[in-house]
Amino acid sequence: MIGIPDITIEAVIARYGVLLFDAYGVLVDAAGPLAGAVELLRKLDRLGKPYYILTNDASQLPPTAARKYHTYGLAVDPERIVTSGELLTAHFADHHLAGARCVVLGPADTARYVELAGGRPVALGDPFEVLVMGDDAGFPLRDTMDALLTVLFQKLDRQEGVHLVLPNPDLIYPAGEHRFRMASGSLALILEAALQLRYPDRPDLRFARLGKPNSAIFAETLRRSGTRDMVMLGDQLETDIRGANDFGLDSVLVTTGVGASTMPSLPDHPRPTYRLRSLAPSG
Ligand SMILES: [Mg+2]
Repeated sequence: MIGIPDITIEAVIARYGVLLFDAYGVLVDAAGPLAGAVELLRKLDRLGKPYYILTNDASQLPPTAARKYHTYGLAVDPERIVTSGELLTAHFADHHLAGARCVVLGPADTARYVELAGGRPVALGDPFEVLVMGDDAGFPLRDTMDALLTVLFQKLDRQEGVHLVLPNPDLIYPAGEHRFRMASGSLALILEAALQLRYPDRPDLRFARLGKPNSAIFAETLRRSGTRDMVMLGDQLETDIRGANDFGLDSVLVTTGVGASTMPSLPDHPRPTYRLRSLAPSG
């Protein structure tokens, strides 16, 4: 990260109209709020400074996430939370999937996202047109992956189509200090590899990836904020920083999170505009 200028949180607040935060590794981790997060959101509320939380997490509806943040001392309005699960609505509309039968992997809120998008969640084993790889939790992993592999092969052998959707393309996430877990993006990669093995002339058998770094979540945030005077604060180069860069926004790499410290500084990696060492006030 040579040559990336440092910035303070006060300067970020002064320079930009709207602050966009990644959730995990910036404001919270699996154990609770990260240092400085509670005070920072209080300060933004006091200043009347708009902010949004952009998360690839599709396992919770915004009100569910807001309730959890409240238990951490973070008073976040659900309207300020933009999730990859919410992007299913536009995706289903764009691909004319209203009424489609959907196998949904994930907890109850993930199935609710699918219903809100117009899909009909069905049990694995029932006929379906859409597979939504929503989250890594809420189902027995090994048995479900084996069953999915089997029904997908059967379906494709019968020449039936299938639409594959991955709201959260993250491969890993921090489970606590120095502990990591596989995210839904890793499960999608396993299925894609298996499909390529059996159907090598079907490059179309890929998941549509909705969350960061893809632009849809930034476009949805722009729709809510009404201004491009926004800056993205995140801990992951490949999702937060690359996504902001591609959407034409400045970005701040927050280096307190677990993700950033493991990122190599390769020349072709996305470059943040600034680096922020702490959310806490300087001086
Ligand atoms: Mg993160």
